[in-house]
Amino acid sequence: MLGLIQDRPLLISSLLDFAATYHGEVEIVSRSIEGPIHRYTYRDAQRRSKQLAQALQRLGVKPGDRIATLAWNGYRHFECYYGVSGIGAVLHTINPRLFAEQIVYIANHAEDSYIFTDLTFVPLLEQMAPELKSAKGYVILTDRKHMPGTSLPNVICYEELIAPESGEMEWPRLDERTASSLCYTSGTTGNPKGVLYAHRSTVLHSFATCMQDVLGISSRDTILPVVPMFHANAWGIVYGAPMCGAKLVFPGRELDGQNVYELMDQEKVTMSAGVPTVWLMLLNYMKEHDLKLPYMNRTVIGGSAAPASMIATFEKQYGVTVIHAWGMTEMSPLGTTGVMKAKMADWPFEKQLEYKAKQGRAVFGVDLKISDDGGNELPRDGKAFGHLMVRGFWIASGYFKGEGGQVLDEGGWFDTGDVATLDPEGFMQITDRAKDVIKSGGEWISSIDLENLAVGHPDVAEAAVIGVAHPKWDERPLLVIVPKQGRSPTKEEILGYLDGKIAKWWMPDDVVFAKEIPHTATGKIQKVALRQQFKDYVLPTAQSAAE
Ligand code: ADP
Repeated sequence: MLGLIQDRPLLISSLLDFAATYHGEVEIVSRSIEGPIHRYTYRDAQRRSKQLAQALQRLGVKPGDRIATLAWNGYRHFECYYGVSGIGAVLHTINPRLFAEQIVYIANHAEDSYIFTDLTFVPLLEQMAPELKSAKGYVILTDRKHMPGTSLPNVICYEELIAPESGEMEWPRLDERTASSLCYTSGTTGNPKGVLYAHRSTVLHSFATCMQDVLGISSRDTILPVVPMFHANAWGIVYGAPMCGAKLVFPGRELDGQNVYELMDQEKVTMSAGVPTVWLMLLNYMKEHDLKLPYMNRTVIGGSAAPASMIATFEKQYGVTVIHAWGMTEMSPLGTTGVMKAKMADWPFEKQLEYKAKQGRAVFGVDLKISDDGGNELPRDGKAFGHLMVRGFWIASGYFKGEGGQVLDEGGWFDTGDVATLDPEGFMQITDRAKDVIKSGGEWISSIDLENLAVGHPDVAEAAVIGVAHPKWDERPLLVIVPKQGRSPTKEEILGYLDGKIAKWWMPDDVVFAKEIPHTATGKIQKVALRQQFKDYVLPTAQSAAE
């Protein structure tokens, strides 16, 4: 027997309609690329998104066509989110920080028909335009006054594109499984692969972002997403905020401590979200200028592990609760958040910090488990670590155009590529990327655990651990240390410091000292580059084993 409940499709357009109807006067504030602060309301955003939708239809854009954006967080980009997906076309948010060849590859792979761009990226696109085979035109997200002279073919000024339209239209009633947006993962190996979100998965993910145990978005919030809109839909905030009528503050291009701080202060921001690197810049700026965050209530940190010291600084010095979150592009992106449980509220801060530094608990809608190499589930005891597998309402079932082939196992689980523990409280902790784990004699050694311990030594600024070939054990750990300025610790001192803190067989076979360690744009250690650098390294223990 089926229930007797209306079968209304879960559509992205309904989020903006709700905000415009019930929170029509709530503001969206943007630091514009042209310079000044721009402010308008959800009601304005809805009208202009509809104008854009009408203009796209006038250009001949059909359901399923891919429309790309190369843009920072701002109101016109927000309108693309709704105007494009609202008519059943697919919004392809391109990460402008990728290499030019990667951008060309993904725009061609996605077959983007129109490319919307901020002024910032016009020179970049001019270089690539001859290779962008499917592009019918380039829409510059600005007004006539700021239109640049450009060699781009078929250039359209955004304000002129939407101006003739009335904004009076009803969004089409699409199938809720219709594709809504497309986001490519940077892919450390092979070509980037496209994750194709749907209206249904996006709306369900938005409900989750509003849950108290997740990001807790509400109509009382003013949210500044520092996380870019080209990075997994700004972690879902561009959809979650209208679902509640939360005020939005878009930071534009400058994500330095000063710009972020000024917006937080002037707009009375209550919640923010971004990667650790961004927070490091903000914390340094505030320390230098002796500033406080009187309005901020919480901040979301994800993308890479939030260091315990950063969590403690936010919470103890600034009174800002940290929500440590983990997810990935393939997961829309939220998987876990580290909001404390009731019984943890009374724990001493040091004990809470142990849990806050983990990546958090599963969000309803996402199932987690860890398995060994043979696919057997491992215990949730906080000690065993294995491949982190996920399934759920907003997790990819495959990549765009079938790239990468079958990605789910028979149980419908997706392998995240992360290695993690799950503890009895349900908290997950990443111990490694699967490809970075050191496989010694069939057992696994966590490079992250060793790194975290090594940076505790007073002379160590940064540490990285990689597996190096070993004739007997297959791989053994090599510890690479960047000493603090003016310090020169010895190998014996470092290993002596680790002694007693780890199992004997985890002890690195050698320590090398370096001036620096390579990093990615988001501050993750580039293990691939490091492994390449040390690919011919002969461990002292390898020599003796070979003799
Ligand atoms: P990219 O490779 O472009 O950064 P994603 O944003 O999808 O792509 O990256 C997802 C990966 O980032 C996760 O699989 C995980 O390894 C890492 N990650 C995300 N959040 C955290 C976190 N809180 N702690 C540690 N690692 C994280």
